[in-house]
Amino acid sequence: MSEATEMPTKLVDRFGRHVTYVRMSVTDRCDFRCVYCMSEDMTFLPRAQVLTLEEMATLGKAFTELGVRKLRITGGEPLVRNNVIWLFQQLGRLPGLEELTLTTNGSQLERLAGPLRDAGVRRINISLDSLDAERFRRITRVGDLDKVLRGIEAARAAGFERIKINTVAMRNRNDDEILDLVRFVLDRGMDISFIEEMPLGVIDDHDRAEVYMSSDAVRELIATRFELVSTAETTGGPSKYFRIPDSGTRVGFISPHSHNFCDTCNRVRVTTEGQLLLCLGQEHSMSLKQVLRSHPGDMDRLKQAIVKAMDIKPKGHEFNLEAKPVIFRHMSVTGG
Ligand code: SAM
Ligand code: SF4
Repeated sequence: MSEATEMPTKLVDRFGRHVTYVRMSVTDRCDFRCVYCMSEDMTFLPRAQVLTLEEMATLGKAFTELGVRKLRITGGEPLVRNNVIWLFQQLGRLPGLEELTLTTNGSQLERLAGPLRDAGVRRINISLDSLDAERFRRITRVGDLDKVLRGIEAARAAGFERIKINTVAMRNRNDDEILDLVRFVLDRGMDISFIEEMPLGVIDDHDRAEVYMSSDAVRELIATRFELVSTAETTGGPSKYFRIPDSGTRVGFISPHSHNFCDTCNRVRVTTEGQLLLCLGQEHSMSLKQVLRSHPGDMDRLKQAIVKAMDIKPKGHEFNLEAKPVIFRHMSVTGG
């Protein structure tokens, strides 16, 4: 194809933002059913609709050839997908990729932390909303806290450069554990980010507005016990970071409601079905599965499709907790 010589080496949208970060969901399935993320009885996608691991590896290659430097693997629970380590091994050796990382609920880490580290993963995010076994089970509906804690220890032993805990802060659900969670990461040299709940998907038995807790409220609470020093550090995401003096620990706040991070958005997402989502809070998307399956092996065509999709990346999201959700995708489908 003659256009091959004109293929851009960067992804730039209409607003001049460079897309260098892709989050890829490798499964919509999960062994947990967190109340803010999934309904109790979920219907998962038929296998044929889900991208194969080979297709995902091809996407990773296309994105890195277009200047993407960071890939985050997520889901659903990425580590429940069969043979997912093979995908990490393929992605881990892509030239140009500076960072391969994942977000996990930790349930499979006891078994997989070592192989992930060997595949080239240097940083890892582990979700943990409570240190109380019974409460942990209530929030995840089925999760076993001990297993996750053993997974966190396995990750520490495997030698990841950074381990970050992700906690969704919820009023009257886990706000009384926020200080304990900070102490937990501080004692282990890890980081923590507190996330404001986002209205993704309709969940019957969970009232998001009732449990909503702003990042400012979480930060004020932490500041009653720990000194927080503001830093300009970024990990390429929407987190605002603080350092706890005399420790390596960073405390981050991800605040889709209270602070608008769209202006500097550098990311896109790929769903389990190969849908390229240009914005977490909007419906703008393009099917990469269609390109992959109708033109197998045609890397140039795939890259052209990705370049073209940049034209429909919207300026920003419009989340509103009070309004009826306009976004019907669950987080497990979009890939947190
Ligand atoms: N299963 C993995 C996990 O739990 O870490 C990866 C996928 S999960 C969807 C990624 C992150 O999204 C988790 O930290 C989870 O707490 C967060 N999350 C899920 N639903 C959310 C929501 N509605 N608002 C904010 N964060 C959410
Ligand atoms: Fe599963 Fe992660 Fe969603 Fe919890 S947040 S249900 S662990 S995908």
